[in-house]
Amino acid sequence: MSFAGQTKKELTMVDESACCQRAEVEAIVGWNGLFRMAEDRRVLDVETENVATARRIYTLIKAQFDVHPEVVVRKKMRLKKNNIYAIRVPSVHAEAMLRSLGWEAGAQTGPVGPAPTRTLKACCKRAFLRGAFLAAGSVNDPGGTSYHLEIGCPTESQANHALCLMNEFGLHAKLIQRKKGYVVYLKEGEKIVEFLSIIGAHQALLKFEDVRILKGMRNQVNRLVNCETANMNKTIAAAVRQLEVIRWIDQQIGLETLPPHLREAAELRLRHPEVNLQELSQRTGNRVSKSGLNHRFRKLEEIANKLRMGVEGFSQ
Ligand SMILES: [Zn+2]
Repeated sequence: MSFAGQTKKELTMVDESACCQRAEVEAIVGWNGLFRMAEDRRVLDVETENVATARRIYTLIKAQFDVHPEVVVRKKMRLKKNNIYAIRVPSVHAEAMLRSLGWEAGAQTGPVGPAPTRTLKACCKRAFLRGAFLAAGSVNDPGGTSYHLEIGCPTESQANHALCLMNEFGLHAKLIQRKKGYVVYLKEGEKIVEFLSIIGAHQALLKFEDVRILKGMRNQVNRLVNCETANMNKTIAAAVRQLEVIRWIDQQIGLETLPPHLREAAELRLRHPEVNLQELSQRTGNRVSKSGLNHRFRKLEEIANKLRMGVEGFSQ
């Protein structure tokens, strides 16, 4: 199951008081409810592709409004043939239900649309957002390439309502318009974690944090490895250059003509072409320090340069 699927499944098991149940249903019906004609009767269908959400809607409607909805399953046309579950309420009951939820009058057919905005208690704000997320939310797996949580909104007023509620909780939510409606979204990992906490998805939150921390650690390790590789490349490049210089001098004048301390460094490098200066210094029993060796190799380079330029009688 996807991370979004797991999150929704968890949300459908959240216990809540009656006031919050109403707020959650209000959001879900406003997002996913539509009146349609089915076998010559007008019905309210509240639709979802998520079976856990379908069960939740069914239970909430039954508990809150004393109606017995039907459940209708159909295959989605298009590419991914997911099931679509419709929790179906006959229009007589649906009208009463919507009125008690705050709608003034239902549409004849088509989307129910949002109820007039009312002031929600703090607990109900969370429940409303939970409902909206269950109705049209999705969240990327935290192990993926980018953090992203969104709620698709059918109308601008719903998008603004969701945006305001989320930002009352300090989530820095953003809003964009897409071809089909509006999207309210979060991009910061930290804010996604806060949102999951607000809507009561605590298991999902912990899983998200685990992956996020692990990913942070992995990035840190990668950075260290990259640094080390860069250092290693530098060491190799330096050693290669030193070897070139030494071989050039040997060809031109012979290493035995060098002053003893330079000859020693040259022969040491020839014997240990692959090690860095630190290790080379250890090979002398730390008698010659790393910077001492560095100095000697610079001298050798100067000698090689002078030889290349044909300068006679180089200084020692
Ligand atoms: Zn409440």
